[in-house]
Amino acid sequence: MYRSLGISDDVLKFGENIIDNLKERFEAIDEIAEYNQLKVINAMQKNKLSDVHFAATTGYGYNDLGRDTLESVYADVFNAESALVRPQLMCGTHALAIALSANLRPGDEVLSPVGKPYDTLDEVIGIRESRGSLAEFGVSYGQVDLKQDGSIDFEGIRNAIKSNTKLVTIQRSKGYAQRPTLSVEQIGQIIKLVKEVKPDTICMVDNCYGEFVEKIEPSDVGADLVVGSLIKNPGGGLAATGGYIVGKEEYVDNCAFRLSAPGLGKEVGATLGITQSLFQGLFMAPTVVAGAVKGAIFAAAVYEKLGYSVLPKSNESRHDIIQAVNFEEKEGLIEFCKGIQAAAPVDSHVVPEPWDMPGYDSQVIMAAGAFVQGSSIELSADGPIKPPYTAFFQGGLTWYHAKLGILKSLQNIVDAGIKKL
Ligand SMILES: *Cc1c(COP(=O)(O)O)cnc(C)c1O
Repeated sequence: MYRSLGISDDVLKFGENIIDNLKERFEAIDEIAEYNQLKVINAMQKNKLSDVHFAATTGYGYNDLGRDTLESVYADVFNAESALVRPQLMCGTHALAIALSANLRPGDEVLSPVGKPYDTLDEVIGIRESRGSLAEFGVSYGQVDLKQDGSIDFEGIRNAIKSNTKLVTIQRSKGYAQRPTLSVEQIGQIIKLVKEVKPDTICMVDNCYGEFVEKIEPSDVGADLVVGSLIKNPGGGLAATGGYIVGKEEYVDNCAFRLSAPGLGKEVGATLGITQSLFQGLFMAPTVVAGAVKGAIFAAAVYEKLGYSVLPKSNESRHDIIQAVNFEEKEGLIEFCKGIQAAAPVDSHVVPEPWDMPGYDSQVIMAAGAFVQGSSIELSADGPIKPPYTAFFQGGLTWYHAKLGILKSLQNIVDAGIKKL
């Protein structure tokens, strides 16, 4: 079958040898998946999930039992007081924008203690001038960078917290940056420090790509708000749209009032029949994430062996599903992405090209042959066309698909004469 999918015997053998050495890592990943699977089932049982909860609501969506139960299940999975899980949260950026604008007021400062946040938040916060940004509403922004070695600058954070620091936004995943992903434990250390200095500071975590990679989530270590996208990890590939915000009831309610309208809050919002897919996606998410983490480690090991710098390294512990490979030249990045695309179940016949994507400051190439548009829990790769020409690789609804994608990317790179095995 590999031969008929365009993988040569040499490439396959190269890959299989690497997988032989990853057996123990994979067992540890399966153990985390097992724990998280039980956590999800436990929350569904506790909330007496039933098929009545899969019914559609329309119009205002008053008394949407399924929606309310889904939010209780999310709150329990994340060990939080409350949750807002809605198709009306259009993507991760939207969920983060809602969480920020709902909980910040003119004169407040938002602080990022782990370097510049994800690119699309530049315009939300107003780091880059933009219409409707928080800056336009009189919210200022502060930032403490990670130290040269990637570690957290605790002293810098302590000094950066001012009387008007209202909210600290901590991004778990590296996103499109060259920095380590934070472990949940490290996030807990930052929160502990922030609360010591100024106890009423809201600690928010951008949890995109991190869900179910560990046994605990940021809300287990004191985060007041945890935010993410349903077309990443927690949607399990089955959620067609949506985002989630979990955390302290007061702050989550603020988000609901901002998302709908003051006075309406969580009471409105029809689900139009998609609730079952959100439950089922959450149910699948722990094993889907495990497949994606295996794919990330395999990619790291393959490209490390070929001499590229990879982040994280193949033997490092994992706190999100993203794997970065620095190709140092445009051609390697593009061939890699073309290989991922060629391995897809959907749109395998199209060829990705760099383009000017809204919200990003350089051209970006994206490979995704996904069932859900832009879904990056599905096998996907993307990279900004600027040095060091890094491919950010993530996802794979199954380990076998992730494996095929990486083999195909390797095949492309070998065929293009960029590297020899
Ligand atoms: C994907 C992502 C976002 C934005 O999510 P979208 O759904 O693409 O809008 C924000 N932060 C991080 C770390 C992400 O990975």
